[in-house]
Amino acid sequence: MQQPIKKLVILGGGTAGWISAALTKKLLGAAIDVELVESNEIGTVGVGEATIPGIKILNDVLGLNEAEFLRETQGTIKLAIKFENWKNKKHSYYHSFGTAGKSMAFCHFHHFLKRAGELEDDTKLWNYDLNALAAEEGKYAHIRHKDPILEMPYAYHFDAGLYAQYLRKFSEKMGVKRTEGTVASVHQDQQNGYIKSLELKDGRLIEGDLFLDCSGFRGLLIQQTLQTGYEDWSHWLRCDRAVAVASERFEKTLPYTRSIAHKGGWQWRIPLQHRNGNGLVYNSAYYSDDEATNLLLGNLDSKAITDPKVIKFQTGRRYQQWHKNVIAVGLSSGFLEPLESTSIHLIQSAVVRLVHLFPHHGINASTVAEYNKQSKLEFEQVRDFIILHYHVNQRTDSLFWQEMRDMAIPDTLAHKIELFKQDGRLFRDQNDLFTESSWLQVMLGQGIVPASYHPMANTMSAEQLQAMLKKIKAIKREPLSAIPSHDEFLKRYCG
Ligand SMILES: Cc1cc2nc3c(=O)[nH]c(=O)nc-3n(C[C@H](O)[C@H](O)[C@H](O)COP(=O)(O)OP(=O)(O)OC[C@H]3O[C@@H](n4cnc5c(N)ncnc54)[C@H](O)[C@@H]3O)c2cc1C
Repeated sequence: MQQPIKKLVILGGGTAGWISAALTKKLLGAAIDVELVESNEIGTVGVGEATIPGIKILNDVLGLNEAEFLRETQGTIKLAIKFENWKNKKHSYYHSFGTAGKSMAFCHFHHFLKRAGELEDDTKLWNYDLNALAAEEGKYAHIRHKDPILEMPYAYHFDAGLYAQYLRKFSEKMGVKRTEGTVASVHQDQQNGYIKSLELKDGRLIEGDLFLDCSGFRGLLIQQTLQTGYEDWSHWLRCDRAVAVASERFEKTLPYTRSIAHKGGWQWRIPLQHRNGNGLVYNSAYYSDDEATNLLLGNLDSKAITDPKVIKFQTGRRYQQWHKNVIAVGLSSGFLEPLESTSIHLIQSAVVRLVHLFPHHGINASTVAEYNKQSKLEFEQVRDFIILHYHVNQRTDSLFWQEMRDMAIPDTLAHKIELFKQDGRLFRDQNDLFTESSWLQVMLGQGIVPASYHPMANTMSAEQLQAMLKKIKAIKREPLSAIPSHDEFLKRYCG
């Protein structure tokens, strides 16, 4: 459609809708008008409270004040995810946002650990990771240190509803128009099928040139109207439901998300300032909704304060996340369970991709193809990382875990595991969201120990190796004594 794009219409006011509104208006400014339509009657999915460090870039680009943001969203700091009972029952490990050891010229630190015999013990890697050490002690501070070895990358936990409200205020101030109402029908161009306008129940018409479908799982534009189709990945990721409930806050606010595996799924615990977010992601062949709800309620560490809510989902992605003049963002674009807290990041990344490819002068096939190619790869890379957690397990207590172990996995993932198994080789694929450090922690944490290490790790004597490891361990521990508790940090920083 070689027609200039002047007006962007966003359908949906959940996390996806408001991130899209704030970011497009901020980055594209006066070049486009942005109108967001949301329905109080339908509401939002109301979950999605843990993030990964990329969200700091989003907040920074928007120019949000961090202390205010944490106050407004009842947010907390997230240094890691603690995976409990995943490899087997009673075992746990961290997937921290930090990096163990230090970066060595050409040779990853874990090869030196392997040579020193420390990789066989599945607790030792994290002694060299400041994020994991601080998480374990429940501590956090903004460390400003010149030496990158002491960097402590972090993300946030926040109340998703409050975050959307916060971004709404921000977006409206920048000139985004908000319209409340429920879309009853969608009008398309008779010739090319492009969407022309949305008609609300009360008859109001919302016209636009480009439409972002942020309508949640229903995908009102991308699927219900344009019938774009869905690639189903539930043969790899077999959980198809979640039950979520909020509970009273704990006395101590952990600086990490907990992910606790059960016989037929896993449970999250997300600490916020005013309450905790909890949920169980499960396979409906293993638990009925009632069983899942009872399991979750029986495993809360504090009193439930909301009614449990069951959410059904299908893991996979839209074949074309951009089709005609509609781009699906958020739950309408596909779904990967929240094991690595990636959905909000995928929203951010979709909007940034759109901004880079924004069709100011009209939509053309190559722009759409490039967008769809990049989105596909991004979803597949995240998918592989999530499958890894399930596939590499040693649990013997249910058919669910056995089936996960026995299933055929994507070739891309099988290749990565094979390389690591042999002699610890890890390569970050281009644009992969997850770094070598992430892959290393989850592979080791789930129980893969490489058979050997790279000979580059032999470039020092055994004594030098021991001295180096001792020194790095001491450097990583050293700041801990001066770092306050996470609660103390929040009190001082947010007021
Ligand atoms: C169980 C679960 C746990 C999750 N946990 C995490 C997590 O920890 N971290 C993370 O990053 N992500 C997580 N996610 C994903 C995250 O919740 C979503 O990515 C995020 O909330 C975006 O949702 P959305 O805005 O796409 O959809 P929704 O929140 O469903 O919003 C849809 C919007 O569209 C509007 N709408 C729909 N139909 C109409 C209509 N006809 N007319 C007008 N308006 C309409 C609705 O009113 C609403 O405003 C989780 C998801 C689930 C299911």
